[in-house]
Amino acid sequence: MTEPTVYLNGQYVPYSRALVPVEDRAFLFADGVYEVVRCYDGRPFHLDRHFQRLRDSARGLELPLPLDEAGFDRIVAELLLRNGLREATVYLQVTRGAAPRQHHFPDDSAPTVVAIARPAESPPEDQVRRGVAVITVPDTRWGFCYLKTVGLLPNVLARQQARREGAHDAVFVRDGLVTEASASNVFCVFDGVVYTHPLANILPGVTRAVVLEILDELGLPCREEAVPLQRFRAADEVFLTGTTVEVMGVAQVDGRPVGAGQTGPVTLRVWEAFRRRCGSS
Ligand code: PLP
Repeated sequence: MTEPTVYLNGQYVPYSRALVPVEDRAFLFADGVYEVVRCYDGRPFHLDRHFQRLRDSARGLELPLPLDEAGFDRIVAELLLRNGLREATVYLQVTRGAAPRQHHFPDDSAPTVVAIARPAESPPEDQVRRGVAVITVPDTRWGFCYLKTVGLLPNVLARQQARREGAHDAVFVRDGLVTEASASNVFCVFDGVVYTHPLANILPGVTRAVVLEILDELGLPCREEAVPLQRFRAADEVFLTGTTVEVMGVAQVDGRPVGAGQTGPVTLRVWEAFRRRCGSS
């Protein structure tokens, strides 16, 4: 099997030759930002929105971003081409680069930019219709959850706990309110009204924004309002949104069924509309 080609600091190199220094600040301090872009049939989905968020995340870390939107677009296109991919996710990470370990920013480090394309598949329809199980866990993350940084250890621990308990994902609860999941945003439905946490210390998901547009188009009322955990557990429907999970129904929260114990009708309407937007239905 031939090795994947990855992007590293302006060059396309075989995976095994894409090496970064041991004192890269992402390795030492999680001092870096990233994006994951889904490509459908060779076309990146809302690359412009991903780039804007990358810029915002970099600005939040006072990290000069060494690429513009056209550069991001070129890297994605080139990785798809060189790896012969059309259905893919492209992971792009920018770090503050390598320097002798000191907490404060180095004066002269060059950023590290790395990008990797992987084959991707949308979640199968039967899984979407069946829905997945989630658990709820305390949101132990920091105050900058709206920045997409590589400091993801609380998300990793939450996802691992979900896995251990046989669930698909973990939903964070902060001050008694549902925020988002380990790698997706969370929506719930009560009496036909859709709720999701407002953009306050959660990740502003690209899929979340697309879903808000879809709800508007479908004429489904939506409130960006935080939902208490007790109420969340009694929702008619719950769904997750994210670049890789797309729109995924939730059938169980903490071992108890949501609604009829399978993906609900509002979620399915949103999912169908989302798939149309991806050009794949
Ligand atoms: N929330 C968190 C914590 C995430 O990590 C992600 C994606 O990785 C999302 C939400 C969903 O964002 P997007 O729809 O842009 O993929």
